[in-house]
Amino acid sequence: SLPIVAVVGRPNVGKSTLFNKLIGQRLSIVEDTPGVTRDRIYSKCEWRGKEFMVVDTGGIEPDSNDVILAQMRRQSELAIEKADVIVFVTDIRCGVTADDYAVAQMLLKSGKPIVLAVNKVDNLGEPPMELYEFYNLGLGDPYPISSVHGHGTGDMLDKVYESL
Ligand code: GDP
Ligand code: MG
Repeated sequence: SLPIVAVVGRPNVGKSTLFNKLIGQRLSIVEDTPGVTRDRIYSKCEWRGKEFMVVDTGGIEPDSNDVILAQMRRQSELAIEKADVIVFVTDIRCGVTADDYAVAQMLLKSGKPIVLAVNKVDNLGEPPMELYEFYNLGLGDPYPISSVHGHGTGDMLDKVYESL
């Protein structure tokens, strides 16, 4: 069976937008309302001749008691368990949040290879200063991407590819 790449992160960082960009279709619902992806959505994807399954997930909300958010959190945990590589999506506009740190801790515990994507870096050119803060997550180099435009997703996929 194909290796699995799970896209995880807080609600509204752009996971579904990234998923759609990677598969070249709009299977996943993109919403301004956080946490719209209720189910895991799978699709086959290929990079440099290697095939894998990419999985979109609902957002992980680390300390939520809300029933739906708790269910989405469980879905994300299941996706992480099954994943061979995890793409952890964050948002340059929010910077590193307390929830990002909590998710990072949870991901590190999984022992899986993690690729840190910093989304919504829409302008081409020099990476913004705000990118450096993401080194504090302890997950190595942050990959600046724009899921809307597709900028940076090639370098990010090259990093994913190394762990496939
Ligand atoms: P999810 O909850 O993590 O799945 O996030 P969504 O993919 O639903 O996106 C949440 C919001 O962020 C939507 O309004 C998207 O259009 C917006 N968004 C996603 N990616 C980008 C990006 O690269 N740049 C900008 N400017 N907005 C983005
Ligand atoms: Mg989503």
